[in-house]
Amino acid sequence: MINQLQERYQLSLLLLLGTIAVLGVFPFAVIRYLDGNLTASIIDMALVLGLIVLVAYAYYSKKIRLVGAILAIFINGGAVVIAIANGINSFLWVYPVFASTFILVKPIEAFCINVVAGISLVAMAEIFDIISMDSFIVTILILSISAFVYANHSLKQFRLLETLNTVDALTGAFNRRAMSTDMQAALSNSERNGIKQFLAILDLDYFKSVNDKYGHAVGDQVLKEFVKITTSHIRQYDRLYRFGGEEFVLLIPVVEEQQQTFIDNLRTVIKKNLKTPNGEEITVSFGVAPWIPGTTLDTWLQRADEALYQAKAKGRDCVVFNNE
Ligand code: GH3
Ligand code: MG
Ligand code: MG
Repeated sequence: MINQLQERYQLSLLLLLGTIAVLGVFPFAVIRYLDGNLTASIIDMALVLGLIVLVAYAYYSKKIRLVGAILAIFINGGAVVIAIANGINSFLWVYPVFASTFILVKPIEAFCINVVAGISLVAMAEIFDIISMDSFIVTILILSISAFVYANHSLKQFRLLETLNTVDALTGAFNRRAMSTDMQAALSNSERNGIKQFLAILDLDYFKSVNDKYGHAVGDQVLKEFVKITTSHIRQYDRLYRFGGEEFVLLIPVVEEQQQTFIDNLRTVIKKNLKTPNGEEITVSFGVAPWIPGTTLDTWLQRADEALYQAKAKGRDCVVFNNE
C-alpha cells in the first residue's frame, strides 16, 4: 500500500513529461533536418524515440522508479550532448531539462544528476564565449536548489498523505484500506508460489465491560496499549490492521514450523501485559485461517471469523485454527 499513491502520481507525471518532451522536441528534429543540420536532427530524433520507448515501458511494466532514473540520466545526457553539438542554439533546453529531473527521481538524486550535467556543460560546451559562465553557474544553481526544496517538501507531504491513508488514527495500526491491498498482494503471492500464510482475527474479550466499568476514554487507551504490545511482539513482516472496533487482523506472511506456538505465545504476552486500570487482565481470542489454494479475500476472512467464533464459544482467551 505504502508508495502506491506516489507511484500512480509519478506514472502520470512520466506520461505528461513524455508527451510534452515529444511534442516539444519533435518539431525541432524536423526543422533541423530541413535546415540541413543532420547531426542535431538525429540527436533530437533519438531523444524522441528514447522517450517514447521508456515511457511506454514504465506504463506497461510499472517499473516507475527504474524508468524514472534512466529517463533522468537520458534527458540530462541528451541536453548536454545537444548543447555541445549544437552550441548556443540548443542551450536553453538545459533549463527545462534540469527542472524536469526533479519529477523523475528523488530530490537528492536529481540534484546530483544536475550537478554532473552542469559540470559537463561548463567543461565541454563551447558557449561561454557568447554567454557569461558565472551567470550560467549562478542561474542553474538557483534553479536546481529551488527545485530541490520544492520537491523535498512535496515528498514529505506525500509520505504524510500515505500515512493518513493507511493508518488507523486512534491506535496507529494499519487500517482496513491497507489490509485489503496487502491481503490481495498476499493472496497473489501464495497463488504464484504456494507460500503458506496465516490470517488471524484477534478480538478483545469482554471489551464492552471495560468500557462500561471505566469509560470510553480508558477503553480507547486499552486499544492503543493492545496495538503497542502486539506490534512490539510480532516480526518485521507481520502486519496488524484494525478491522473495526476491538477486532484486529494479523497477517503473517511467512509461516515457519513453530507458527502455532508463536501465535499462542503472542496471546500469553498480551494477557500478561494488557491490564485495566485496576490491574485486571484483558485477554484476546484468536481465530486463525492458514492460506489454502483457492482462498479469496472474503473466504479467508470468513474462515478466520469462524475460528474466532469457536474460540469465543470455547470460553475465550484461546487460539483456534481453521484448517478447512
Ligand atoms: P466478546 O468477548 O464476545 O468479544 O465481548 P465484547 O464485549 O468484547 O464484544 P461486544 O461486541 O459485545 O462489544 C465490543 C465493544 O467494543 C462495544 C463497543 O463499545 C466497543 N468499542 C468498539 N470500538 C471502540 C472504540 O473505538 N473505543 C472504545 N473505547 N470502545 C470501542
Ligand atoms: Mg470482543
Ligand atoms: Mg468484537
